[in-house]
Amino acid sequence: MNILFASQVEKAEEWLPRLQAALPQDRFVTEPRSDVEVALVATPPPGTFDGLKALKLVQSLWMGVEKLLDDPAIPASVPLARLVDPGMVAAMSETVIADVLDWHRHLYVYRAYQAERRWYRHRQWLASDRTVGILGLGELGSDAARKLLALGFNVAGWSRRPKQLAGVRTSTDLNSVIESSDAVVCLLPLTPQTRGILDSGILKKIRKGGCLINVARGGHVVVQDLVAALDSGHLAHAYLDVFEPEPLPADHALWRHPGVTITPHSAALTDPRTALPKIVHNIECVRRGAPPTNLVDRAAGY
Ligand code: NAP
Repeated sequence: MNILFASQVEKAEEWLPRLQAALPQDRFVTEPRSDVEVALVATPPPGTFDGLKALKLVQSLWMGVEKLLDDPAIPASVPLARLVDPGMVAAMSETVIADVLDWHRHLYVYRAYQAERRWYRHRQWLASDRTVGILGLGELGSDAARKLLALGFNVAGWSRRPKQLAGVRTSTDLNSVIESSDAVVCLLPLTPQTRGILDSGILKKIRKGGCLINVARGGHVVVQDLVAALDSGHLAHAYLDVFEPEPLPADHALWRHPGVTITPHSAALTDPRTALPKIVHNIECVRRGAPPTNLVDRAAGY
């Protein structure tokens, strides 16, 4: 089988030797050709899909696929699979836990005090005093929820369809999740329904002194509303990993806001070592004529 690797971000030199070792009978190419049956993509260069007449599967190398869904060059008739990488899932939960603990243990405050050589202790809260609300209980949100529960936090979670997750107060009602939350973690896909969802109306319902952790996509947050919620003192802090546009421009006010901790879309990166078995599995599905796993529901937008 001929398999195309096309990415402006993921490094061919990291992926191709691993892919070739796992699938020695297949030929991996980096330029489009008419006999390509599978395209492995993450931010593919323009023209990638031109003339791919034999294409049977587009396999994303990333978990979020909103840009691929918006790409008119990808025929809607070709199945699109997203990546569910266990290494990435673990990394995301570690980031979420790090951010929740940074807020919960006042570490962001003490870092600022250190710069002033100020010795002042804030009240200590127990994890069981706090509720973390997770928006999106998919692969990432449900793993983070389980691990936060193990640390003793109360966890509430919002999903589109009703969902059961042991120990988590799940709901399809956004307001009920937000109103009971001290910390809100956004792990939603970016779709027309979720774009701009974190606006002033929602942010003001997070409990006072709480925090927002956005590790999903920049388009989920209305930045001026978030800044207002921080400036008014309603929210104590925001942890932002994702922005529109990326990279965040050097002159953007968020860089200098004392209530914001910025990371460079690094909450969870694809790790070829843990992602490879999933990709190999889907390529074998195509070879056998079986349906690949983790296919995107184009109607739902994720
Ligand atoms: P997923 O498995 O598809 O789960 C998405 C969750 O969001 C599901 O629980 C889904 O509900 C819920 N949802 C979707 N639309 C909704 C709506 N309109 N109302 C309420 N709930 C809705 O996705 P995932 O693998 O967990 O990934 C989530 C996102 O994280 C990705 O799309 C990507 O943008 C982002 N991400 C960021 C990074 C980073 O480094 N910052 C890394 C990887 C991924 P149902 O359960 O009912 O379907």
